[in-house]
Amino acid sequence: MIGTINEILNLSDEKKILLQLKANPYFKKIGKKEFLKIAYKGAACGKEIAQQLSRRFPNASLHEVLKQLDIQYKLEPLTCEENFISLATFQTPNEITVNKLIIDNNGKYYEKYQVECFNPCFWIDIVTAHELFHYFQEQEPNLFVNTYKLPLWRLGPYVHATKLEILSEVAAMAFAQEFLKLPFYPGLLDQLLIYPSYPERAKETLKELLKEAS
Ligand SMILES: [Zn+2]
Repeated sequence: MIGTINEILNLSDEKKILLQLKANPYFKKIGKKEFLKIAYKGAACGKEIAQQLSRRFPNASLHEVLKQLDIQYKLEPLTCEENFISLATFQTPNEITVNKLIIDNNGKYYEKYQVECFNPCFWIDIVTAHELFHYFQEQEPNLFVNTYKLPLWRLGPYVHATKLEILSEVAAMAFAQEFLKLPFYPGLLDQLLIYPSYPERAKETLKELLKEAS
C-alpha cells in the first residue's frame, strides 16, 4: 500500500488537479484542455490570496494569522463514516474545525507504521489552510471562484450557466500550497487521509485514481 500512497504523492501537480476535476459531472462536457484552463485560473486565485496574506502578515505562521484574523480554531469530532468523511470545516463567520477522529486514527497509524503523510503534524496545517481559504472566499464575493459560471446552454438571449464548486476546492489547495510553501500541490490529500480509518475503501479509490492517471 505504501507504494500506491507514494505514487499518488508523486503525481505532478497538473495530474492531481486533473484527477480532482475528472469527478466533476461537467468534465466530459467541457473537455480536458478547457477544464484545466479554468482550473488553473481557480488555482491562481487561491495563490493570489495567499500572497496577499503573506504581505499583510509578513513571516507570520498559520496559527498567528488565525489569531490576528480572530478565527476560532478547534479540534473536534466531525463526521467520519465510510461514505462521508469531513476532514475539516469552515463555519461562518469565523470558525475552523479539524476532525479529531481523523487526527486520532491517522496518528495511531503513523505511530505504528511511520508513514509520514499520515503524521498529523504533516497534514493538519494543510487542511486548516484549506479552510482558511474558504474564510476569504466568504469575505470576497468578487473572487474568480465565486463569480465564474460555466455556460451550459443558450436559448436566444438566455444563457443557462452553473457554478463549479470544484474550482473553490482547487483554489483552497493552491492557497494552502502557496501559503505553507509546500513543494507539492496537496490536491488528493483528502483521498489519502481516509486510509487509516477505512483502508479497504481508500485502497479502491486510490487504485482507481492511479488507473485514471496513467
Ligand atoms: Zn474545501
